[in-house]
Parts: sequence; structure tokens; C-alpha cells
Amino acid sequence: MAAAIEGGAAERAGARILDGVELAEAIRERLAPRVEAFAGVAGRPPTLGLLLAGDDPGSEIYVRNKIRQSDALGIATDLRRLPATAPFRDALAIVEEFNAADAVDGILVQSPLPPGMGADAEARIFDAISPAKDVDGFSPVSAGRLVQNRTGLVPCTPAGVMALLDHAGIEISGRRAVVIGRSDIVGKPMALLLLHRHATVTICHSRTADLPRVAAAADILVAAIGRPALVTRDFVKPGATVIDVGINTLTERQQVVAIFGPGSRKLAAFERRGRVLAGDVHPDAAEVAGAITPVPGGVGPLTIAQLLSNTVRAAEERRRAGAG
Ligand code: NDP
Repeated sequence: MAAAIEGGAAERAGARILDGVELAEAIRERLAPRVEAFAGVAGRPPTLGLLLAGDDPGSEIYVRNKIRQSDALGIATDLRRLPATAPFRDALAIVEEFNAADAVDGILVQSPLPPGMGADAEARIFDAISPAKDVDGFSPVSAGRLVQNRTGLVPCTPAGVMALLDHAGIEISGRRAVVIGRSDIVGKPMALLLLHRHATVTICHSRTADLPRVAAAADILVAAIGRPALVTRDFVKPGATVIDVGINTLTERQQVVAIFGPGSRKLAAFERRGRVLAGDVHPDAAEVAGAITPVPGGVGPLTIAQLLSNTVRAAEERRRAGAG
């Protein structure tokens, strides 16, 4: 079950490992007949328009994975690239073209946009995406719908976490959930989804006082911080479910040894590749937690699976509404 898991939390296995690879596969399998049915009726596949601006190496990898997985499922992609020097209006023109195109069902603008486009470029581009095609769920209309618990396209990473909790049979209603991180793309929508499922939710951030004590009250603890191994065992209530959203690349041997230990599989992987991924949760948390997600192989694969799911849903809903 944990074949894709390369040490880390899994190596300290006291906790049950929540496998995102396996669930992502199941989600894709469930989507396949819907993709086929849509294509049969519409005479074209569900289609995702992607904008990749600049030359961020991480973004290249994310976009490549999104295209590869879309292809494998029969979802068509239309990738537009812009150089890092392109002005904001070029990005806006592409989004407007996607908005107007009948045969484009979903629009994804890969973050980050190049700094030259301006500090508010991302907010302005998300403002421009048609809500019906907003498969990332980042537009103000999508965010507002989520606050009001109305149906809409929900940000992929938190939606993936909910799918994982449900698949694992983790009870949410009436439980105490703590979300560390308050970004618009992970922390806030995560907290809202848990709230709508009747958890009692606390949102923490960099100014939270006595973070370990607050976190240790959680039955469900979500770490979406971007700081490797910040969440140690003293943050975790015995038996709690720990969801590690963080994806941090470690390139210093010393740091790998300090977090994972000298004999760890992570260190062996580091010796081979010169870099490894680490979550926001320290591996010693797995000795206390009841269930925990690995990094990689936990939340990450579900994010793309949910993107595919949102694209199929957007295609179906646009068709029902008489578009596309
Ligand atoms: P952001 O940088 O936008 O937000 C990080 C949040 O963590 C902020 O709210 C910040 O607080 C808080 N924070 C930072 N330092 C601390 C600290 N020392 N103590 C408590 N809180 C702190 O990140 P994102 O939400 O975009 O991403 C979070 C992580 O999740 C990253 O590692 C990212 O790579 C990963 N990620 C993974 C995805 C996946 O598919 N698995 C998808 C998206 C993101 P404040 O607001 O006060 O600054």
C-alpha cells in the first residue's frame, strides 16, 4: 500500500499511513466513464486551458504532470506559454480568450506569475477567470460560494484532503480540527471545508501564540505551512489524524540528517539524487499520530486528481447550462 512512500513519516510507522497515490488512482478510474460520456455527447473531450508564464522550474514540472495526467484520462489540454518578460496584459488576453472559447471548459493559470507582471497580478488574473471555468477555485466568486457553502468549484488541495479523510473513514463532525496556514489556496478553504462538515475549526498562522499547545488539541491537524518538519511530536495529540500538505525540497545533507536521521531511507535517497522532499510534519509525529499522510505520496497526488475532477465537472455543468 505504501509502495510510493520513501521513508519519512512512514519509516516511524506507529501511525496508519494514508495513501494518496492509491486514492488518486481510484478517483481517476471513477472519472474515466464520465470523460467518455461527455465526449460522446459533446463530440469533443473535456478541455483544460493552461497558462504557464515565466520559467520557474517547479511550475514546469507541475504543468507537465497536469498535462500528462489529463492526456491519460482523455482530457484535452491547450497550453499557452509566455516569457518571464511578458506584460500582464498578455496573460489577461489569454485568459479572456479561454473565457470566450466554447470548447474550453476549465482554465488554470500556474502560480507564480513572473514578478515583472506586478505584485497583484495573480489576484487580478483570478478576478478575470470565468467562475464557470475556474477549476482551481481561486476566483473571488468561487471563494464566496465556498464561504456560503454553496455548490461550486473548490480549490483542489483542500478538496483532496477531504476526499482522503472520507476515504479513510475519519470522522469529522463534532471533532476538533486545527489548520496551520491561512493562505487563500490551502489554509482558508481547508478550514471552511472542515467547518461545513461540522468540525470545530481553529486556524493558526505565523503569529499564533503557543502553536504546539493549540495544535495538540486537534483530532484532525492539517499542516499547510511550507516549513520543513516544523510540526513535531509535541504538536500532536495521541491518536490524532495528521495531514501534511507541505512540499519542501531539501538540498542540504545536514538538514536531511537532522530531520530524518543518519540511517534513514530519505538520506539514502538524498545521497542518490542530491535532493529530497520533506513535508511540514516531522517524522517523529508518526510515533504519536493515529493516522498520517506521507510526503511524497499523500496530499500531492490528490491535488491533480481533484483538478481533473473539477475539469470534468465544469465541462458537464457548462453543457447542462447550454454552453460548450
Ligand atoms: P503560503 O506561504 O501561502 O502560506 C503559508 C502559511 O503558513 C501562512 O498562513 C503563514 O502564516 C503560515 N506560517 C508560516 N510560518 C509559520 C510558522 N512558523 N508557524 C505557523 N504558521 C506559519 O503557503 P501555501 O498555503 O501556498 O502552501 C503551504 C505548503 O503547502 C507549502 O509547502 C506548499 O508547497 C504546499 N502545497 C502543497 C500542495 C500539494 O499539492 N500537496 C498544493 C499547494 C501547496 P502567515 O499568514 O502569518 O504568514
